Amino acid sequence: MNGQTKKLMWGLGISDEDANVIQHAAGGRFALSCFPIGVTPTVDQLETDEPCLLWISKQGWDTLKTLPSSDTAHIDVTSRILIMGGDYDLAELESLLECGFTEIIKPPITKERARDVLLSAVETQNLYQDIMHMTREICLEREMLERKNDMLSFIVSFLEKVTQHLDPAEILRAAQTELKTLLPVSAINAICWSPQVSENVHATIYVAGSEKNDVARAWTEMLKTHAQRLLGDGVVSIDMNYMGTVKTEILPSSDTLLAIDLEHGGANFGVVLVQCHEHPQLGKDQIQILRSAISHLTLGLNNAMLYTAAQHNADIDGLTRLYNRRHFDARIVEENTRHRRYGHSLCLMIADIDNFKNINDTYGHLAGDDVLKDLSRILESSLRTSDYIARFGGEEFAVLLPCTSASHATMLAERIRIQIEEHSFVTDKGILNVTASIGVACIDHTHEESPVEIIRRADAALYQAKDSGKNQMSILYPDKSLLVAGGYAT
Ligand code: GH3
Ligand code: MG
Ligand code: MG
Repeated sequence: MNGQTKKLMWGLGISDEDANVIQHAAGGRFALSCFPIGVTPTVDQLETDEPCLLWISKQGWDTLKTLPSSDTAHIDVTSRILIMGGDYDLAELESLLECGFTEIIKPPITKERARDVLLSAVETQNLYQDIMHMTREICLEREMLERKNDMLSFIVSFLEKVTQHLDPAEILRAAQTELKTLLPVSAINAICWSPQVSENVHATIYVAGSEKNDVARAWTEMLKTHAQRLLGDGVVSIDMNYMGTVKTEILPSSDTLLAIDLEHGGANFGVVLVQCHEHPQLGKDQIQILRSAISHLTLGLNNAMLYTAAQHNADIDGLTRLYNRRHFDARIVEENTRHRRYGHSLCLMIADIDNFKNINDTYGHLAGDDVLKDLSRILESSLRTSDYIARFGGEEFAVLLPCTSASHATMLAERIRIQIEEHSFVTDKGILNVTASIGVACIDHTHEESPVEIIRRADAALYQAKDSGKNQMSILYPDKSLLVAGGYAT
């Protein structure tokens, strides 16, 4: 259509004479297309012609009203002028205006009147188009606001969930659930370590699966490679945490994997691997929101790792790096309960350095400290990873031996006693030799004892070892029978 150059008007049932005046008054920018009475323009015509104005005679209108409304409803969309002769009262005029006519004019139409009507119709239509345009813009703006609102809700919820916990596994669990609303996430696996260390790092691997299997091994290897990329050979030990956050375990697939290096204050403290089940298609604002989510996740994990490290430090003895008495007291309760539940045997060993006061008095406290540190390493190297060692007091060490029989504990205590006796302790005052006395108490499922009673029995056995000449190993059985073995203190 030639709408770009000429605006179209429709005439319905109007006389040739009126049509001529209208066309003449409208000038070359408008074209009038007329339909005789009884002929109605179709919907298709409405769409192609896009008429700016509809001139309709009273007779044409009366005929139109007799047609089914489905045939005439589309005519309502345009400004309408009714050309009506004769006299009419106010009520009739009102009812006609209610039918949607913007003007009613009497024939014969003059050129001036036609032009006035046309100009005001065009003005109304321009206004109408402006309003439509503004409405469309408002709708778009509203859609954008809604999207931004959704994203804000996502980030608020994400922030709330990942800062709710101080356990890294719980944070990763929450992140997996929340990120699913933004990305096609199937699993999150991670490796983290304390943000304060970059050497001799003790890392923890968080695996999405619930058990050690081929999938878990594949993730573990990948996470170790990432840790090596960031720390070289700085990782000295790795703890495993199986989070059980996935129903179906999936192997890492590099083309849909998002690797996030955890970094805070210029130091790396881990890597989070977000596995998607399809390639994420993200818009610019979604990428922005993902970045924000990742920085919240980093902050949450950083806090959790600092808290874990602080908690660990509160449980560790500063000199020997063994667990301290506070931690031991809680651990013996746990082990004793577990021992009772599963009917396993549990042994407690307390080792006390002989004549340690003399070492301090002769060589100084620093040399004494060196002995304590060296002895801690002897204990660590002679025990299983499932055994538990703590610094019980000044120069006393406690060892919990789960699932260990009395005879095995006796052998172990004797072996450790000999190791200490034969060891050359390197101190700032040269090589020293020391001995220790060891008391052992074992419980089996036939005896129920409180942790205090077990400690008391191990202590009594230690007392016996001291009393029998030191550098001894002594075991006190629940029935109070005693076995003492070993060399003698020099
Ligand atoms: P016994 O053979 O009967 O066990 O005699 P002992 O001298 O080993 O025992 P005593 O209880 O008389 O002395 C223990 C000493 O351990 C006294 C204390 O100063 C020292 N000690 C405790 N903690 C530390 C420490 O952290 N560093 C050093 N260097 N000495 C410590
Ligand atoms: Mg002592
Ligand atoms: Mg002592």
